[in-house]
Amino acid sequence: MKKLLFHSSLLLFFSLNLLAQAPPNYDKEVEALLAKMTIEEKIGQMTQVDLLTVVVPNKSPIQLDPTKLREAVVTYKISSFINNGLGRALSVDEWRYVNKTIQDMILKETPNKIPLLYGIDAIHGSNFTLDATLFPQSIGMGATRNPELARRAAEITAMETRASGLRWNFAPVLDVARQPLWSRLPESYGEDPHLVSVMGAAAIRGMQRNDVGSPTSVAACMKHFLTYSFPMNGKDRSPALMPEHYLREYFLPPFREAVKAGVKTVMINSGEVNGMPVHGSKYLLTTLLREELGFEGVAVSDWEDVIRLHTWHAVADSPKEAVRLAVDAGLDMSMVPLNFSFFTLLKELVQEGKISEKRIDQSVRRILKLKYETGLFKNPYLEKETAKNFGKPEYRQTALAAANEVMTLLKNSDNTLPLAKNRKVLVAGPAAHSITALNGCWSYTWQGNDPKWYPKNALTIADAIREMIGAANVSYRQGVDFTGKVVDVDQAVADATTADVVILCLGEDAYAETPGDINELDLPAGQQELARKLYATGKPVVLVLVEGRGRIIRDIEPQAKGILMAYWPGLEGGRAVANVLFGDVNPSGKLPFTYQQHANNLLTYDRKYTNRLNESSAPGEFKIDTFGPQYEFGHGLSYTTFVYRDLKLSSATIKGNGKLTVSVEVVNTGTRNGMEAVELYTRDLFASLTPPLRRLRAFKKVNLKAKEITTVSFDITREDLAFVNQENKLVTEPGSFEVMIGKLKAEFKYEE
Ligand code: BGC
Repeated sequence: MKKLLFHSSLLLFFSLNLLAQAPPNYDKEVEALLAKMTIEEKIGQMTQVDLLTVVVPNKSPIQLDPTKLREAVVTYKISSFINNGLGRALSVDEWRYVNKTIQDMILKETPNKIPLLYGIDAIHGSNFTLDATLFPQSIGMGATRNPELARRAAEITAMETRASGLRWNFAPVLDVARQPLWSRLPESYGEDPHLVSVMGAAAIRGMQRNDVGSPTSVAACMKHFLTYSFPMNGKDRSPALMPEHYLREYFLPPFREAVKAGVKTVMINSGEVNGMPVHGSKYLLTTLLREELGFEGVAVSDWEDVIRLHTWHAVADSPKEAVRLAVDAGLDMSMVPLNFSFFTLLKELVQEGKISEKRIDQSVRRILKLKYETGLFKNPYLEKETAKNFGKPEYRQTALAAANEVMTLLKNSDNTLPLAKNRKVLVAGPAAHSITALNGCWSYTWQGNDPKWYPKNALTIADAIREMIGAANVSYRQGVDFTGKVVDVDQAVADATTADVVILCLGEDAYAETPGDINELDLPAGQQELARKLYATGKPVVLVLVEGRGRIIRDIEPQAKGILMAYWPGLEGGRAVANVLFGDVNPSGKLPFTYQQHANNLLTYDRKYTNRLNESSAPGEFKIDTFGPQYEFGHGLSYTTFVYRDLKLSSATIKGNGKLTVSVEVVNTGTRNGMEAVELYTRDLFASLTPPLRRLRAFKKVNLKAKEITTVSFDITREDLAFVNQENKLVTEPGSFEVMIGKLKAEFKYEE
């Protein structure tokens, strides 16, 4: 209850804040500056390059090469940089040096002194800065069903990023993860658009607060617009094919909510949808994004994606045509990022009259406005107040609180968990003593797979279990590596025979983007073989899955006594796993995606009736069940039990714009305190396009003491019942609906 009160007072605080400060308007300043700028300066604003283009190679601490820097910022007038290619994290001081050196040169040597706007991927923490706090990856945050945690994690990320002098974060990822193979699934909040919308908007509010100029904020970037997460063959940046109503039903909503939340920037999907690369689609970048969603901020390309309209997608027959296509489609800034070709080609296009200066002005206005809003014209250097906002112990406490809530208990036969702290355990498997697998992609480096950049005080699962139950009770064996190659399987089996219980940590090491592509969803055979060998000892085995996506475990699942899904839980993930295994924390995570059982039967929870025909089959009847996931979306056990009862509807009908209040009593019938995410689903019984069996419409997380009872209520309006029809319009069709919370159901009607 206390937690709920805390949430609502916070909400009140933020809404008052929203009312109090109308965002400053910089139109006058922008127009005055624009009027002074040459076409070269304008095009320079639209060009973004990687820091690699201006560094002295292989220097530590980092050093910028003044000649190269001058070429970038004076000759090509560039004032946006990114970092993806360095291959290492920089210290806060190095970042401050980078920012100061670039700003110094811009202020001293360029006529209009337009400050640098540095964009960085701070995906789950300020992850390109040494010793920054790393939170669970978004997929785990989706499992918490706790938007307040997402907001707070994003707020800390913003503070630590701005403390490095940087003010633009290429996050959050709002791609809805409906393709289980996709290597960026860990960066998404899950497979459901409502879940992604709520968590994503919370992250944006955390990063931007209500003022990106405040010394604790950064500009957020919703990405990757649109349909990146649904490649047909599961491979990164490969084609998506879908009818527009589906695109609007499942992939658009988080972006719409992000625009409502005031997101300042957007990054475009590198891939194509329905044969059109998104970077070249005027329909998606202008008609849908700007005219329909009302987005007014800066649209930046993804890495090299303008030129790839020519080199990869073959919709432009020359690099220059690629630039024309993208700018004409509505792009404001090109992440070129390893040369200045965009500058040269765009200048030629303007000179040839193929792109108008008016069109250039449109983009430059947006970019300058963002620079004003982030306070760069006021003070382009590190602000005094921000410097202290780095590495505070309370940030790590929040990372731990988040990791604790991420943990999703999938199975607990015979109440094997929690384990008593006096047991002798073997901690085994490739993820047992891996700091990189706990953190995943974008962790100090792009791939996140190099342990040498991690803070020395970060604990692996084996370290954390030793810390918790004493080193004398713990033995560790890797068994196999992540690919399944044997390391010390025989010794692991020998150690298992002398242990009381085996904690077997399997899964995936860190990967990002294309290097994370897989051809099979199954957990590698060698990892499964290790499980079988350990089962054969007869000792109870608890599986801990440390993985960015749900790798198939069908064959080894039945013999596991317990299964804990940890995702990639971040720097405090080791402690969080130990907390749950040994009962210091009662798990409350719920799966943010359908955990697949069969690689050739990939369905999401919101499937259609015809995906699952067996609902009413009586014994002896022919039975077809084509769904059968390993675990359903929303599945997650607790060490206590929650009973739902007394589902009540305030009315049997919603009329027009009216609302319906749905309430349910939730009882903690067990003996432990616990948190429970209460989820409300609806089903449209008959609709003009086949309706899914259920759709998540709302969720609230409650914290209940043992035996405590609470009433949770939700308001539903016609908007919650809407779907995108065959004409691609969002409509609510009159008729009967079902509302479902837990196993409780009730019917109501919607009338216009
Ligand atoms: C990724 C983006 C990222 C960009 C800049 C690209 O490869 O797709 O998500 O923001 O690099 O680092």
